[in-house]
Amino acid sequence: MAFPDGFVEEVRRAADIVRVISEHVPLKKMGTSWKGLCPFHQEKTPSFNVRSEPAVFHCFGCGEGGDVFKFVMLHERVSFPEAAESLARRFGVAVPERQGRFEPGPDRKEREETLALMEAAAEHFARNLWTAPGTRAREYLLGRGFKKETLERIRAGAARDAWDDLLGALRGRFSPKALLAAGLVLERQGKDGHYDRFRNRATFPILNESGKVVAFGARSLDGSEPKYLNSPETAVYQKSRTLYGLSWAREATRHAGRIVLMEGYLDVARALEAGVEEVVATCGTALTAGHGRLLHRFTERVVLNFDQDEAGQKAARKSFEVLLDEGLRVQVVELPPGHDPDTYLKAEGAEAYRTRLDEAPEAMEWLIRRAAEETKPQTPAGKAAFLNALLPTLVRIESAVERAAWIPRIVERGGLDEAATRQELRRALQTRGPVSVREIAGSAPPTAPRPPLLTAERLLLAMLAHGAEDADEALGEISETDFASLRSAPVLRAAKGLYLRGVKVVAAELSAAVEDDEESRRLVSEIAVEALPEKLPSALDCVRELRHQTLRKRLAELQKKLDAGPADDQLLKEKNEIRREIASL
Ligand SMILES: [Zn+2]
Repeated sequence: MAFPDGFVEEVRRAADIVRVISEHVPLKKMGTSWKGLCPFHQEKTPSFNVRSEPAVFHCFGCGEGGDVFKFVMLHERVSFPEAAESLARRFGVAVPERQGRFEPGPDRKEREETLALMEAAAEHFARNLWTAPGTRAREYLLGRGFKKETLERIRAGAARDAWDDLLGALRGRFSPKALLAAGLVLERQGKDGHYDRFRNRATFPILNESGKVVAFGARSLDGSEPKYLNSPETAVYQKSRTLYGLSWAREATRHAGRIVLMEGYLDVARALEAGVEEVVATCGTALTAGHGRLLHRFTERVVLNFDQDEAGQKAARKSFEVLLDEGLRVQVVELPPGHDPDTYLKAEGAEAYRTRLDEAPEAMEWLIRRAAEETKPQTPAGKAAFLNALLPTLVRIESAVERAAWIPRIVERGGLDEAATRQELRRALQTRGPVSVREIAGSAPPTAPRPPLLTAERLLLAMLAHGAEDADEALGEISETDFASLRSAPVLRAAKGLYLRGVKVVAAELSAAVEDDEESRRLVSEIAVEALPEKLPSALDCVRELRHQTLRKRLAELQKKLDAGPADDQLLKEKNEIRREIASL
């Protein structure tokens, strides 16, 4: 960070993490740490932990965690420098001049420029909407019955019917290259120069969870296709990890204990206008496992409200399965035929809609009813089709108890034989594999299962996080080959880096060093928030144990290769070397 030397450290020492957090979250002392209800996800029993030495917080429910700066960043939705300055002011540390001192790295620089550009574009489009160039878009949106305040709140805008409106407006401040990288302009084919991507469209800025504009959705005004055109993925925008409306929905979601998932920008706008704020929409893409994880950070319960046409219902079913895999509870809103959230809220109002939300059936019940309508289980073939329509979803329910609880309902609705149904379910469970889960999860890349933490690994991390006396010695000894295959490799790599730069490794330093790697940051807070076990081996012993395990693993791999193929001198030599090394440990 480009604050002057020592400033961040000074703020960290001065800012009392328990005091800062307890102002927002009621905390109770439990042993050596503090516990409360997590402010970052909905929960009824406390899994949110705060510790003052080392100063960290961690939620065992949603995995969020970090130091006092991270808490302020997440809670107040501000950047690191802003969090550091606000804490400094609160705890009486002199704030240095920031001008010219904050020098982000190249990635962060690109992100920041793109964010600044997106913000400028949103301002330009919004200005258009309320002046002459936006007449058509304005008439369209007001014609659909939206209030001016709502359109201003969602920052709706208008892209003119021109090739270079945005290009011309931003040219002075941003390079065409930056505009191209941000997906706002396209390159002219066969000629030099660029032109606007969005033309003659009503625009809807897509904000990230902290409320920054990262992309646009744009609806055509002249019937040209596609009806909705979206920004491409950029340095700041990933479709599979962005939900429209999330920054507005956060607060209400906490109170309502649910999030309503809709399809369109204007569905969300209508709900906001009606005062139903716990709503989000996918940005013109199928729900992915990434979306599921994102939703899970804010809630345990998702209510689906998709369009009632064939495509909408299909999307609802796929979304249900993705959310089930994420372990979320899912319900499906049922609206009268012909209605979508927009038309229903407009016609019947918020109260009627809330009642529909409150009475939304469990998604499994909804699916059972749909399957019964579609497969007509009056005939033997119909019965089989009915059960086959349900099994793929049923097997995704993680809890065996819950799964079993649906059987009587399915048996009753389909007029099935109960014993046969149970047998079919058992068979389906046996063939359930990770492959089908990935298929349904759509475009999200399959995430490799993370290896579990080894005992020696966990202990070493705990000693590092708590700044144990002999940790330095261990860091001097450990090397890349010892930890490269471990789950905590990025953390240990960062720790080694700090050690080599002569920085004393403690939770705060580690956390800051892996700040951009969410998985690692959460791992650090998870370990640091727990008390250090009373009986500990030496840190050096942990390193030796890790090395031992790595070598044994390599040895087993070599043996496998040797067993499979013809004699290979090179492999044999390596094998003997590893044996010698193991013996010398
Ligand atoms: Zn949590």
